[in-house]
Amino acid sequence: MQGVDVQHSKVLIIGSGPAGYTAGVYAARAALSPRLIEGPQPGGQLTITTEVENWPGDESVLGPDLMARMGEQVRKAGVDVVGDLIVAVDLTATPFLAIGDGGTRYTADTIVIATGASARWLGLDSETEYRGRGVSACATCDGFFYRGRVCAVVGGGNTAVEEALYLTNFAEKVYLIHRRDTLRADRTNQARLHANPKIEMVWNAEVAEILGDAGGVTGVALRDTRDGSASQLAVHGLFVAIGHDPATSLFKGQLQMDEEGYILVKPGSTATSVAGVFAAGDVQDKLFRQAVTSAGMGCMAALEAERYLAGHNAHPIAAEGADCGALV
Ligand code: FAD
Ligand code: NAP
Repeated sequence: MQGVDVQHSKVLIIGSGPAGYTAGVYAARAALSPRLIEGPQPGGQLTITTEVENWPGDESVLGPDLMARMGEQVRKAGVDVVGDLIVAVDLTATPFLAIGDGGTRYTADTIVIATGASARWLGLDSETEYRGRGVSACATCDGFFYRGRVCAVVGGGNTAVEEALYLTNFAEKVYLIHRRDTLRADRTNQARLHANPKIEMVWNAEVAEILGDAGGVTGVALRDTRDGSASQLAVHGLFVAIGHDPATSLFKGQLQMDEEGYILVKPGSTATSVAGVFAAGDVQDKLFRQAVTSAGMGCMAALEAERYLAGHNAHPIAAEGADCGALV
């Protein structure tokens, strides 16, 4: 096609989090000249956090620094890192096709999907109304604005606890609102939370409405999850930390997925329902969702792509595509 930019690679990696970057390093070291599309968040989710204390080899490392280091390693390994966003794919024929935001057509013999996940919102109209004016999903990004003020975090997982802890660096007081009476967060985080005098737990409560005025958020209306009773908290900011949704809308109808939109893979593999297409990291994993597990899956995906390209029957799953639905 005249005037259309078409770029072919043996391996196209979509996503630049731990999964995508690791797939890139392995594919490059296998001399597959991979191309990696960074997407809307170069470096992925860890770029919006502070200390990461469970990445092997680093007692404590800032998320953005860790991802910058990974990005540097990927480039040095020879991966063609492209600052683009994939807006459509066609996985029905080979070579596979992915279309970039500016119209570039990326064709590839294999694809590694590592598009990760993004923050989930409560779904309240008032949340949309006050987003950016007191409602946020990123304490690292917005915590600074709450110096000496009172804020609240919603959620009961590791993210919510870490957001609350981080906010205590700035805020005078932080409420952690959770819909149950036990947290999902790990023990270390729970211990830190309970030891922090600035944090007060609000158990068995959900946010019914976010209150505000022309200046932004002024409070939250709460509903008790046991008896439905109503109460209010005066806060200047509300941080929503209730989990993430996999970034898989691009692949709907083309790959087998579960009811929440996570890409299904054959157990013990990253092979999807389409032969030659692999999925790694949070996009296919709702159980562990860690940097290290994502990186591990990125490694698996690159090795499986290499075997697929070599046409080895050593890996029949990759060669045939997995009937993922039948296996879960
Ligand atoms: P992500 O990191 O989500 O990266 C997805 C990538 O896909 C991004 O680069 C994005 O730009 C790209 N992308 C998306 N859509 C497209 C598209 N259409 N086209 C092209 N590219 C696209 N885990 C830990 O192990 N330790 C921690 O301390 C820790 N702290 C965390 C703190 C926070 C606040 C959060 C939110 C998560 C934390 N996690 C932590 C979890 C960890 O960040 C994730 O498990 C991990 O980043 C997942 O990696 P991934 O590569 O699968 O995807
Ligand atoms: P998560 O573990 O899925 O927790 C989401 C929390 O939000 C749960 O407590 C859930 O309540 C609550 N929730 C969900 N929907 C809600 C709603 N509509 N209203 C109110 N509350 C709602 O998500 P996460 O905390 O973002 O963590 C994601 C993954 O990243 C996890 O695997 C986590 O371990 C990992 N992570 C790890 C670290 C670390 O290792 N230091 C740090 C951050 C994240 P219920 O509990 O009632 O379901």
